[in-house]
Formats: sequence, C-alpha cells, structure tokens
Amino acid sequence: MISSFVVPAGLLALTALAARAAGPLPDELTAFLRVYPWIVLVAGVLLGLRFRRGRVVIAVIAIALADRMLLRFGVGAVGEDAARWAFNATAFLLPLDLAWLCLARERGTLTPRGLTRLALVALQPAAAVFAWLSYQPRLVALLGGRFLPVRLAPPTRMPHLALVAFVGSFLLVALLFALRRKALETGFLWALVASFVALESNRSASLYLATGGLILIVALLESTFAMAFKDSLTGLPSRRAFDEAIEKLAGAYTIAMLDLDHFKAVNDRHGHNVGDQVLRMVASRLGAAGGGARAYRVGGEEFALVFTNRSRDEVLRELEALRAGIAESGFALRSPDRPPRKPKSAVPRGEAALRIAVTVSIGVAECGSRFATPAHVLKAADAALYRAKREGRNRVCA
Ligand code: GH3
Ligand code: MG
Ligand code: MG
Repeated sequence: MISSFVVPAGLLALTALAARAAGPLPDELTAFLRVYPWIVLVAGVLLGLRFRRGRVVIAVIAIALADRMLLRFGVGAVGEDAARWAFNATAFLLPLDLAWLCLARERGTLTPRGLTRLALVALQPAAAVFAWLSYQPRLVALLGGRFLPVRLAPPTRMPHLALVAFVGSFLLVALLFALRRKALETGFLWALVASFVALESNRSASLYLATGGLILIVALLESTFAMAFKDSLTGLPSRRAFDEAIEKLAGAYTIAMLDLDHFKAVNDRHGHNVGDQVLRMVASRLGAAGGGARAYRVGGEEFALVFTNRSRDEVLRELEALRAGIAESGFALRSPDRPPRKPKSAVPRGEAALRIAVTVSIGVAECGSRFATPAHVLKAADAALYRAKREGRNRVCA
C-alpha cells in the first residue's frame, strides 16, 4: 500500500523537475515529452480494455480531452475570453469527471453503460464549445466567478466554482479511499492532485495531465496485481500468496491447516450462498487470529495459518481457542423475515433454531529436526489435519 503513495508522488516530482527545468532539456527528453501524453493515452486505453477497467479507460480519455481542450483553445490559439472560458469549463468538469468515475461501479468500456459514460465524457468539450458559440453570458460569468471571500480563497488562477469542484471531488475520493482501501481509489486521488497542478501550472499542463493518466495506469496495474494474490470471496490472501510465502519461510515457524467439517452438508442443506457466508465468517475469524498469525484461503473450504517465529507448542492454545470460538458461535442464519442487519438488541428468542453448527478441524506442524523444509512441514500439517478428521473432527491435532 505504501507504493501507492510513493510511486505517484515520485512521478509528480519527476514531472515537476522536467516542467521547471531551468535550462533547455536534452533533445531526447524533449522529444519524449512531446509524445508522452499520447503514450499515456494509448497505454491507458489498451491496458484498461485488457484488464476490464472501463473507469480507467474513460478517465484517461477525459484527461486527454482536457489536455486537447486547453491546447486547442489556449491563449494565442483563440481570443483571450474564449481561452478563459475553455480553461474555466475544463477546470470545472475534469475534477467532477474523475470523482464520478471513481465513485461509479465498474461496468466495462464497450458495454452499453461504458459507452454511455464514454459519450458523456466525449461530449463535454463539444458542449463547452457550443455554450461559448451560443453566447451564454450568465453561464460564462458563473464558471469564471470569484465569489469566495478573500479570506477563504487561496491564491490561485482557478475560478472559484472549479476550486469548489476540485475540493469537493478530492474529499469524495478521499472518503472512497478510506472506505474501500483500493489501489484504484488512490490512483484517482493522485490523478486529481496532478490535474490541479496541471491547471495551476499553465505552461506545463500537458505534462502534469499526462502524469495524472500515468498514475491511473500504475494504480490499475497495482490493483490487478493485488487481485491475483487475494481471494475475492473472503478477502484473505490466496493460495498463490500462500505458496510464495511458505517458500520464503526460514528459521522457526509453524503451519496450521484448517478445514471446515462436513461443509458439503451445509451447502446441500442451506444453499451455496449460505455456504459462502459461512466461509466469510470463518475467514474473518482467522484474519483476526492473534499470535502473529497470517491467514490464507488455500482451497474451497480449506485455510492455512502461518506463524513465524513461533513453535508448535506456543500456538496450540491459540488454535484451540480459535476452534472453540467457531464451534461455540456457529453461524446465525438470517431467514427472509428477519431484518437484513444484525439486530443491536439481545438475541431474539428462537435463535437456536436458526443457527447452523460450524466446526473446523486443524492440523499443526512446526519446522524442526523432523520436518526441515516448508514442503515437509506442510505435508506434516496436512497429515495432522487428516488425523483430526479421522478422530472425529472439531479438534486440533499436532
Ligand atoms: P470433511 O469434514 O471431511 O471436510 O467434509 P466436507 O463436506 O467439508 O468435505 P468435502 O471436501 O467433501 O466437501 C467440501 C465442500 O466444500 C464441497 C464444496 O461444495 C464446498 N465448497 C468448496 N468451495 C466452496 C465455496 O467457495 N463456496 C461454497 N459455498 N462451498 C464451497
Ligand atoms: Mg476439504
Ligand atoms: Mg471439509
């Protein structure tokens, strides 16, 4: 997660270096910077399509369109008033675009929803031009207005409505990040920062905007990478993460393998959906297990706990508490006539009938003279789990 702060900040710092370089830049760099926005646009669209992240595709297009808008209708290219209008409209719309794309659910790109979103973004420059040509003095005055009291308004070339749009969007995306803690939300947050700097910087807007797009691409890759190592049902690290983690184990460690008892019967009796909820409940207990345990979902209803720097005897008590905790609480089944949320008051009567018994069997093994490699320890833990099943389930075997 740290990288999702360091990388965007680093990219922005590099952009600032290039943008504020005192002397002329080397020819190669100048040539690269000229194609940089185009590379980002093409890469963003292709990667977004490939990894099915329509929100990123549309966001990099929105950023590229904002860039074109500022270039095409910049001072010098058109009259000063028209250039100011283009700037004001872009500065107002871009943050709002980034915010709603961050808020929106993923709906792909070449889908009806995706294409509608794309059209909404693509039409904005056209709408801005149309508004200018059709002479809308009140709209122009509104977007260019400086209505905030001097005390509140920071020294900025941004008109105040755009400033409000930026601050509001930033707060919204920051809230989304706090709630979801996903790489993509961090990307949108930093893309907003880059866009703000772009519009403030005037001369180097293209560079900063392209960096905003690049930040979104990095976030997309990061979120895809994270997905490969995370189980989507439970949120625990996946089998792949487990396989990699145990390869790296050294020194003292203990592995516990855990399997739900008669889980097939839970599915058969209550349906797959309830089965999934039971898996989530068990996973959240494992994720919160103490003793420095790292939990993984290694199979359908199989989990693993890895304790580094702990011996088998040290973790047995913890595992026993975990097993007992799951067995005692079971899983409260919510029938359709019960409220969707867990009631805050005391457990209602008749609860017993709605509880599913859930138990787990656990096998434990430690690294030591008998089992020296992770593969051996894993095999021993599996054998212990098998023994726990044979001896009647709902128990810990070492
Ligand atoms: P045992 O006590 O011997 O482990 O019995 P069991 O029924 O748990 O074992 P078995 O391996 O026969 O069945 C495992 C079941 O777990 C089969 C499958 O339907 C269920 N299962 C595996 N993955 C999932 C999942 O993601 N969701 C749900 N709902 N069920 C799953
Ligand atoms: Mg199993
Ligand atoms: Mg099982």
